[in-house]
Amino acid sequence: MEDCIFCKIIKKEISSNIVYEDSDIIAFRDINPLAPVHILVIPKKHISSLIDLEEKDELLIGKIYTVINKIAKQEKINENGFRIVVNCGKDGGQEVQHLHFHILGGKKLGTKICE
Ligand code: AMP
Repeated sequence: MEDCIFCKIIKKEISSNIVYEDSDIIAFRDINPLAPVHILVIPKKHISSLIDLEEKDELLIGKIYTVINKIAKQEKINENGFRIVVNCGKDGGQEVQHLHFHILGGKKLGTKICE
């Protein structure tokens, strides 16, 4: 996607602090962190949002969770725990239209996830 900021990060047209990369997935630190560890994990394939997922993407999404597991250990938040957030659409507060999984950790997170 031409004007997708995350596609530009994938193509290295925009710099980012990458913590993981393979042929299908890339993960980088959020530019506006909401927790001591705030990482975005995204598929390299442009999928606009969770609602645009297709059955053929099932393996890819499974792989994303395996990558999240690896990153949690890499960031040493595996023992204390962390939260995964996927915002979807307008009401879900999705600002970037490229499917992404927020990893939030490094502190005790609040319980209010709906405001
Ligand atoms: P969402 O509201 O779920 O769409 O989250 C989008 C996230 O992308 C926000 O937390 C932003 O801070 C983050 N973000 C936007 N642009 C960049 C960028 N260039 N590098 C890293 N994170 C970004």
